Amino acid sequence: MTLSWQQPIATMRCDRAWVEISLGSLAHNIHQLQSLLSAKTHLMAVVKADAYGHGAVTVAETVLQAGASWLGVATVPEGIELREAGISAPILILGATHTPEQIKAIAHWQLQPTVCSFKQALVFAETLKTTNQLLPVHLKLDTGMSRLGPSWQQAVEFVQLIQGVPNLKIASIYSHLATAESIDQTILRQQQQNFEQAITQIKRSNLQLFQHKQIQPALHLANSAATLTAPDLHYDMVRVGLAMYGLYPAVHLAVIDLKPVMQVKARITQVKKIPAGTGVSYGHKFVSDRAMQIAVVGIGYADGVPRNLSNQMTVLVRGQQVPQIGAITMDQLMLDVSAIADVHEGEVVTLLGEDGSQKISADDWAKQLNTISWEILCSFKHRLPRVAV
Ligand code: PLP
Repeated sequence: MTLSWQQPIATMRCDRAWVEISLGSLAHNIHQLQSLLSAKTHLMAVVKADAYGHGAVTVAETVLQAGASWLGVATVPEGIELREAGISAPILILGATHTPEQIKAIAHWQLQPTVCSFKQALVFAETLKTTNQLLPVHLKLDTGMSRLGPSWQQAVEFVQLIQGVPNLKIASIYSHLATAESIDQTILRQQQQNFEQAITQIKRSNLQLFQHKQIQPALHLANSAATLTAPDLHYDMVRVGLAMYGLYPAVHLAVIDLKPVMQVKARITQVKKIPAGTGVSYGHKFVSDRAMQIAVVGIGYADGVPRNLSNQMTVLVRGQQVPQIGAITMDQLMLDVSAIADVHEGEVVTLLGEDGSQKISADDWAKQLNTISWEILCSFKHRLPRVAV
């Protein structure tokens, strides 16, 4: 049944501010990434944190259709969201899960957990002992990131412990890289060496893990940066996040053509003229030095535009970069549109994305804010509708 109030809501989705997601660019990026991989290497699309702010379900459906074969999330609810949407592809939970409730949900929803500590493995054993379900698990080793996983030097002991739990089947052994985007590969290569030494030790031990081809666990190590820069680290699967969303982890890694998937847009809600000497926004941190025409735009820091960009960012209006002026407020910000005579209310402006020949990227904001593009993508709040284009 369609309720009468649903119609206006549907047409109002883009009335103020929104995030546009280009599914064509997403598919293009997957194809570009696949061109780097050998036929045997799987591509895991990392769709944690609501697909880096792009909308997990739509992104997952698109990338699976484009050729990705695995999905990576950080938490159990993120995995459940995908299953509830009808996605049946294998889903690896990259984060740690500790409670019996989480483990039961993992088993129920056929998610695949990371096992990253001896203690956690024992909770899995205890929780699953009354079921006859065989749960595929992925062992995480710490090869130099100092985050999840026992040290790579404990790999044999760790595998032995998991093998002793009848309900667990080791589906893969993996690790995560700390510095893959850096030009200096010293630490990257040290991590590779640690990973390979751990695998050699497991192979040499009596664990027989690798003796049956059909139950051989997969090995994976590469994130976006290593996928782009180090084919010898692709192993059986690469886990790609940032590059899939169309951004390079570093400028020297632009080895394929990636297209940014996300654009952030908003509408002008008011245009006004102010005389010289007029203060603009909270604190009057901007005072006009001449008569100006300004535009109020319906997007602010509660939508994810960083307040620290106040008076420092530009926005695209009709293909021109115009300065943002005054403090960015919770729901609105102001622009100096003196250069565009007939600008009018309701016009769409671009905060991130392209307009004509001009472009503002998450990398530009990241540089200005001394942060990383990953954080910029993840910062847009849910009150901005995600609109697939
Ligand atoms: N693998 C793991 C374990 C991660 O935590 C992440 C992201 O943080 C990725 C892969 C993907 O990283 P990137 O976005 O750099 O491709």
